[in-house]
Amino acid sequence: MSLPSQTSVLVVGAGPAGSYAACVLAREGVDVVLVDADKFPRYHVGESMLAAMRFLLRLIDVEDEFDRHGFEKKYGATFKITDKREAYTDFSKALGPGGHSWNVVRSESDDLLFRHAARSGAKTFDGTKVDAIHFEPYPHDGFEAVEGAHLANPGRPVSADWSCKDDGTKGTIKFDYLIDASGRNGILSTKYLKNRHFNEGLKNLANWTYWKGAKRFNPGQHNENSPFFENLDDASGWVWAIPLHNGTLSVGIVARQDLFLAKKKQLGLSGQEFYREYLKLAPQISDMLSDAEIVSDMKQASDWSYHASAYAGPYFRIVGDAAAFVDPYFSSGVHLALNNGLAAAVSVQASRRGQADERAAAKWHGTKVAENYTRLLLIVMAVQRQLRLKHEELITTDAEDGFDTAFKAIQPVIQGVADTHETDAQVQQRAVESVNFALDSFDVTPEQEKAMTEKVVRAAQAAPETLQKMTPEEVDILKRMSHRVLHRNTTQENSGLAAFTGQVIDGLAANLERGDVGLIKSTMRAIRITEFSKPYSVLSTPVPSSLGPQDLLVKIAVASYCHTDSMVRNGIFKQDSLPFTASHEGAGTVVAVGEQCHDLTSRRPRHAQVTKASWARAQTASLPSTPLPMHDLRHVCRTASGSKMAAPLACAGRTSWRAVDLVVETLEAEQEEASFSDKWVCIVGSGGGLGHLAVQFARGRGLNVVGVAFREEGLTVTREMGANAVVGASEDDAAQRVREKISAPRTSPRDVSTRVPTRRLTCRMRLATAALAYKATRMHGMMVQVAQPDELKIPFQDVVSRDVRVRGSMLASPTESEEMVKWVDKHGIKVLTKSFEGLESIGELVEAAERGQVRGKAAIVVDKSRVEKDEMRCFLWES
Ligand SMILES: Cc1cc2nc3c(=O)[nH]c(=O)nc-3n(C[C@H](O)[C@H](O)[C@H](O)COP(=O)(O)OP(=O)(O)OC[C@H]3O[C@@H](n4cnc5c(N)ncnc54)[C@H](O)[C@@H]3O)c2cc1C
Ligand SMILES: [Zn+2]
Repeated sequence: MSLPSQTSVLVVGAGPAGSYAACVLAREGVDVVLVDADKFPRYHVGESMLAAMRFLLRLIDVEDEFDRHGFEKKYGATFKITDKREAYTDFSKALGPGGHSWNVVRSESDDLLFRHAARSGAKTFDGTKVDAIHFEPYPHDGFEAVEGAHLANPGRPVSADWSCKDDGTKGTIKFDYLIDASGRNGILSTKYLKNRHFNEGLKNLANWTYWKGAKRFNPGQHNENSPFFENLDDASGWVWAIPLHNGTLSVGIVARQDLFLAKKKQLGLSGQEFYREYLKLAPQISDMLSDAEIVSDMKQASDWSYHASAYAGPYFRIVGDAAAFVDPYFSSGVHLALNNGLAAAVSVQASRRGQADERAAAKWHGTKVAENYTRLLLIVMAVQRQLRLKHEELITTDAEDGFDTAFKAIQPVIQGVADTHETDAQVQQRAVESVNFALDSFDVTPEQEKAMTEKVVRAAQAAPETLQKMTPEEVDILKRMSHRVLHRNTTQENSGLAAFTGQVIDGLAANLERGDVGLIKSTMRAIRITEFSKPYSVLSTPVPSSLGPQDLLVKIAVASYCHTDSMVRNGIFKQDSLPFTASHEGAGTVVAVGEQCHDLTSRRPRHAQVTKASWARAQTASLPSTPLPMHDLRHVCRTASGSKMAAPLACAGRTSWRAVDLVVETLEAEQEEASFSDKWVCIVGSGGGLGHLAVQFARGRGLNVVGVAFREEGLTVTREMGANAVVGASEDDAAQRVREKISAPRTSPRDVSTRVPTRRLTCRMRLATAALAYKATRMHGMMVQVAQPDELKIPFQDVVSRDVRVRGSMLASPTESEEMVKWVDKHGIKVLTKSFEGLESIGELVEAAERGQVRGKAAIVVDKSRVEKDEMRCFLWES
């Protein structure tokens, strides 16, 4: 099959970066063509994968396939940097017990991703090389080199010439967007932009091949068979030993190019002999190879450390090795390639869909790629320095015999994610703090920081010796800076998807929700209380820029209004800080998750119900399967109902469910037979937001219901919800009327008291409500109070003569809530809502609610299109 003549996005290069970008876009329904000069499967170096790669693979539904493939499991990695004891970074800390990534045979894993891109809808062509790219002048200014923007403007690329090795065909393909994922070739950087800069200070060289019959690393130890990175005795570099599932051990020497070449000359050896001789400087790995034989040819690479002044421009993005590469030391190449690929897809979609103009989208990509690069560079340079100056304490402290402290801190970089277990996080936090403490004798000023960054970049680019000749004060500054990077990595900006979505660049953050991949603005509008007892204000406020481990960022589609909202606004709960965002009943879309929400991401919740309004940062402590104590109701679960229905369930639904549940529980304890056909419950306020749900819950669970409503409308609603009988609250002796409605002599009204929150109800009337409910309840019965008047006032005559138990109830436990959700779905419970459109309608809503003109729950529809296309949902609350 030949290439089409036109496509929306052309991706050049089908390594991890290109296949990933193509896959993400294809899944969004974008027309993508993915080409690679090589025939797949093709050989590639770089076998050891980071833990965080899992999250990226999960996002495109290919994680399971990696698991099934049979790659060697990688539970962690072991590093020996100086003569001190080795350090192990354990992936189970990031991924949970048994958590692992893989050592892959790249011909197989890259092929897997390439085929997955095709399966996802990308049009893929291997054996097809892009020979030239054509540009049209692009006048739009702002793309020219602006400091820190990482943009370039060679014009807008519009078409590419290609040729196919096999059949000699050639052609031209037109496109709207170009993603350059051509690896080290870097067609845009090297051929057109000519802006690639090599890092002379990281001029290393690698020599590697594959062995059979090697001994396992550390048999019987906790880190048995892990990839092992051992320093060379002469401080010229290090050696990797990576076990692969095809039974070979990949062993490579990475050394300073100058020292490597000098040594080669000195020994007068070449090829395999020299490699074997050099390996002796890594005694542990040499020992592993004592009975092994080489089963492959020698391979060599050099000049891989480079960056560029721009990674994006008008309608093009550069990703993976085509953009920049630092060093193989932390095995981060493929992880960064996928990360970049995702950034490209996100920014292209943002531009295509008009979420950001092309310049902002391109800049977002350029900045993301540049930041990933600089962050890794700083740490790699610190390690390089340590490797070269074996006896100096840079990333270790004098007091320890190994690198545990430093490695705790570096862990997120090595793994791509931070620890997930709280205890480990605490240990890690302490470790980082202790390092910081040791370093905290003075602060790094912005000037010092700028000077040091320049120095490190210069050292990387040209003058490595400057790094070794630093003054003690400079060493101290470098230490502080690298630890700060590490610290940031350990605390929030860990490199899972949370780090990806949590980062805001120029007010734009990534949205990874399938079907909506793109960029979202990082300011949001919210209905807020700025002063107690005053009307709400609609204000612009920042979207949380970094998510905590248990945070979910939810884009609210619907938020409903609860009586408690009016109490909050009137200062009854005295929030300690204003402004305060209104509504604790919201439903919407999860757009970002904290890194402890692994299970949540795997369950792919796309819609959530939260308890804070507009756009909200909600929290989830755990998943529904984990029992939580009542005081910790942070919770999430799915529901099949739409968001308009889901929002009111967060508070009103749960509260009425639990009240009915209490009645059912009590009845069950009292009687043997399962049927409640002669049992009655009286629901006071049955036409309101909580009441109409309580009527349905009670009826559905087999109880007879007599509803008491305050208005004609309420009585109608009560009947519609299936109540067996209704009584108007204003009728003379309504309590008596309730009792009359109940036929069987031994049965009794039990009361679920709910109240329509309206201003029209005078205080006297409110108090009377509880009295009415109490009086309507049979002797020795039970009254469940869920409404929140200022006081409950019940005449003493009733209390002393009637022996009614009063129980208070609020919300519901996670387990109960989950049951409710299932029940709502199964029994088709109706949630009555009156919709108000847009945040600005809040004034109108409050007025209508206070006048008692709302049938069911008042709700603000924030995102109409989301409500219209509601499909799968999940549901979340917080208390
Ligand atoms: C010595 C060494 C060891 C490493 N070890 C590791 C490791 O352990 N773990 C790790 O994660 N990373 C490692 N890396 C880095 C890692 O291999 C790369 O970062 C990664 O492969 C980058 O992926 P990519 O998709 O950007 O590029 P590549 O995987 O290189 O893919 C680029 C593709 O573009 C194609 N292409 C190029 N030009 C054209 C063109 N004109 N037209 C069409 N197609 C074209 C190529 O055929 C190629 O398939 C190592 C690197 C080195 C040098
Ligand atoms: Zn509420």
